[in-house]
Amino acid sequence: MKSDLHSALKKYFGFGEFKGLQEQVIKSILEQKNTFVIMPTGGGKSLCYQLPALMQEGTAIVVSPLIALMKNQVDAIRGVSNENGVAHVLNSSLNKTEIKQVKEDITNGITKLLYVAPESLTKEENVEFLRTVKISFMAVDEAHCISEWGHDFRPEYRNLRSIIRRIGDNIPIIGLTATATPKVQEDILKNLGMNDANTFKASFNRPNLYYEIRPKTKNVDADIIRFVKQNEGKSGIIYCLSRKRVEELAQVLQVNGIKAVPYHAGLDAKKRSNHQDMFLMEDIDVVVATIAFGMGIDKPDVRFVIHHDIPKSIESYYQETGRAGRDGGEGHCLAYYAYKDIEKLEKFMSGKPVAEQEIGQALLQEVVAFAETSISRRKFILHYFGESFDNKTGEGGDMDDNMRHPKEKQEAKDDVKL
Ligand code: ADP
Ligand code: MG
Repeated sequence: MKSDLHSALKKYFGFGEFKGLQEQVIKSILEQKNTFVIMPTGGGKSLCYQLPALMQEGTAIVVSPLIALMKNQVDAIRGVSNENGVAHVLNSSLNKTEIKQVKEDITNGITKLLYVAPESLTKEENVEFLRTVKISFMAVDEAHCISEWGHDFRPEYRNLRSIIRRIGDNIPIIGLTATATPKVQEDILKNLGMNDANTFKASFNRPNLYYEIRPKTKNVDADIIRFVKQNEGKSGIIYCLSRKRVEELAQVLQVNGIKAVPYHAGLDAKKRSNHQDMFLMEDIDVVVATIAFGMGIDKPDVRFVIHHDIPKSIESYYQETGRAGRDGGEGHCLAYYAYKDIEKLEKFMSGKPVAEQEIGQALLQEVVAFAETSISRRKFILHYFGESFDNKTGEGGDMDDNMRHPKEKQEAKDDVKL
């Protein structure tokens, strides 16, 4: 079994080794078991369903929320197998001829991976067709979209279970997500009706990241400039809540001789991709951005991520700081915190439905607790994700401000100065 899997890995993807839990996950899928995969972003979740799909008879249906992501994956799979029909996207943009081709390839057993958006899967004609062909399994990528407690709730995801039942009685399901909170996980298992699933959860610890929170004062800009200058020549991202602040701060940095550009959804597409390229090519050092920046950005040597404004949840904080130190090298995560920023975030939610506000509040309270805690930041984050952590034995146990400079000691030092 092991050697078979390894040679398939080599043959289809050119990789010599599995990453993390991939091999166990793939075995579980090949045994037709319902399977639940929780791995941080970049952990290699796609391969967990792509490889068994390529190895098995029939077509694996992959549900994914983003058309752009689906297209990327389909192109990548076609590239490795030299057969166009091996992977298809089924969505509303296809014309009649294209749809006919897709259905023919599936019927003929050529198509191993069929990517669909949840709204296409709900279409009666698609369900009717899929009932008639051999389906190997169903993968639900970004499965946190099922949960209102996730950061990207999509109501269409809620119907997946009943559609899967209609397509076939015994189709194994594999859910995948990078959201590790126990609440979201519970929702996923319940909604997909797979409490029996084999669950594989990778550690979310990022031992090379240093976490630091500083109180936010009027001098925050000067403090950021000092920090960036101390890290001259290194790549970094600075997140701000508003586009206006992004523009202002980028300008302040430029005036102070720092090679920085702004990035937010209000800039035209050309400028955005231009600024992104400048960052990737290291023509500039710093991108000042809203959260519009970062999805799919894979720069391995980002050395710092600064939050000018505290994010709205621990998940967002984790995702955004996670863009530092991808290569395993240094990654300094510095966030500025003032309670009035929490109130600002509360105000943003005030127009939303009550249920949503309540969830938003609960997530914010965790952010407050995190910002104000005097225990290890790493321990806090990992505990939030349902993972226990021992600072004495765990990797990166001393890599945060509270562990390096405990508050009592800090105060004692201040006393001496007085
Ligand atoms: P996720 O969906 O968990 O965020 P991806 O599936 O996008 O992660 O994979 C992240 C990166 O890891 C991709 O560039 C992928 O090619 C790479 N990768 C996945 N599995 C392996 C492996 N076994 N060996 C080397 N690289 C891998
Ligand atoms: Mg993914």
